[in-house]
Parts: sequence; C-alpha cells; structure tokens
Amino acid sequence: MPELPEVQTVIDGLNQKIINQTISKIKVLRKGITNCSLLPIVGEKFLKLDRRGKYIIFHLSSELVMIGHLKMTGKFIVTSKYAKYHRHDRVIFFLGDQSKLIFNDIRCFGRLELIDSAELLEKFKNMGPEPWDSKYNPLYLKKKLENRRIPIKTLLLDQNLVAGIGNIYASEILFEAGIHPEKPGYLIMASEFKQIIKSTRKILKQALKYNGTTISDFRRVDEKTGEFQNFLKVYGRQGLACRICGEKIQKLRQNQRSTFLCPSCQN
Ligand SMILES: [Zn+2]
Repeated sequence: MPELPEVQTVIDGLNQKIINQTISKIKVLRKGITNCSLLPIVGEKFLKLDRRGKYIIFHLSSELVMIGHLKMTGKFIVTSKYAKYHRHDRVIFFLGDQSKLIFNDIRCFGRLELIDSAELLEKFKNMGPEPWDSKYNPLYLKKKLENRRIPIKTLLLDQNLVAGIGNIYASEILFEAGIHPEKPGYLIMASEFKQIIKSTRKILKQALKYNGTTISDFRRVDEKTGEFQNFLKVYGRQGLACRICGEKIQKLRQNQRSTFLCPSCQN
C-alpha cells in the first residue's frame, strides 16, 4: 500500500499537471469508489493539492474538496483525452487542456470522497501528527506509548499515533533506530523515543528523494516507478545479509503483517 512518500510523489506529479485545469466532464465507470455523485464539481478548477497522512486533498474552486485514498492499488494517471481506456480505469476527469485525469484501481479499495472544506478538520481530527510536525516529539511518544503492551512496529502503523507510515517504512524506521519491532511500547526507553523520531524523518526523507518505493503496483503520475526499493535495508530482504553486520535478515508475522529485522542490530 502506498505510504507517505508514495502519496507525496503522486501529489508532486499531479501538481505539475492538473493545477488550474477546469474539469469539463466526469465519467464514473465503477460505483462504490465515490461517496456521492461527483457532478457538483464539473466546471470547477483544481486549485491546490495537499496531503494529510496517506490522503490526497484536492482543493477546488468552490467550497468542496475531493479527498482521495489510493489504498492497495489505486493510481492517478494524467494522459491525453484521446488515450485508450484501460480495464481498471474507475473515474475519469476530462480537463480543459484536452488531457484527462484517470483514477485507476485494480482492486477497487481506493476511494474518492467529496466533502465541504469546512469538514476537513473534523475528517482528520483523530489522525496523529505528520512526521515533521513539532507535535511529533519525544514527550508526545512517551505519553502515547508508556502504557501500551502492543509491539512498537504495530504502534507505528497506527495512523492516530503518527500519520503516513505503513508496513514498509515501519520496518525500515525500526532498523534505522536499532529497535526490535516486537518491543512493547512501555519498554521503549527515553533515548529511543528520540531515535524513533529521528529515524522516521530520515527514512521518509530518503524515500521522498527517490520518489517512493515500487514493490508491486505503485506508479507515479507519469507511470514511472519509484526507486527507493533499491535502498531498503530490511524490507523484503529475509535470508540476505544485513548491510551493517552481515547477520541474516529475518521475517516474522505481526498482526497479520510481515515484519523484517536484523536480530543483531535491533534489540
Ligand atoms: Zn545487522
């Protein structure tokens, strides 16, 4: 599933292609992707895009905002209006400059939602801070984690703790921080809160630099892939040598998700 770096990469791509474009027509090819009719935004312009966690926020020229979530296999593609339809195209926005913005999704878990801009705060009120927000600090983590018996890896995936981290980056962040993914929240030491925050920012920043990680379906708006998969240190590397100490990388299951770690670098 796309995480913060992949979602931001999509936004950066869209920013170059759809800003100030007017939506001249919308075709919804699959019901259930949207929460309501998208007709009210025909004639509107895309003014600005924002990200909150793994959500893409499309600000329009009216009071409405469209919120997109890619979930497992959602993609946004911008192409010529004459380009052929693809089997998994779900929603098509025809734009004033003769291009079209396509929401393509093989598995159809992705969502496009229209809400009033006044409801934005309410929509994200339970979401944790962004990784670069000053609210994501050691004291905050201490408060959130000190009574939790849940493993730190699982806690990092909770969007209400910190926004934007998913399965790939949680493993990479904990490797970078030298913390075992099964360590329960209440056993994390004061110095480690700092380390987790530092590692979160470092790993996500690197991933952003390489336009995210392409493991299976993630594509940029121009359909190129991200490149951070070439820099992963533990994710998907079970059985291979740790790049730091040479020990074999292990894979384990936590909460039905795969976790990757170096048993000697992380404790
Ligand atoms: Zn190691």
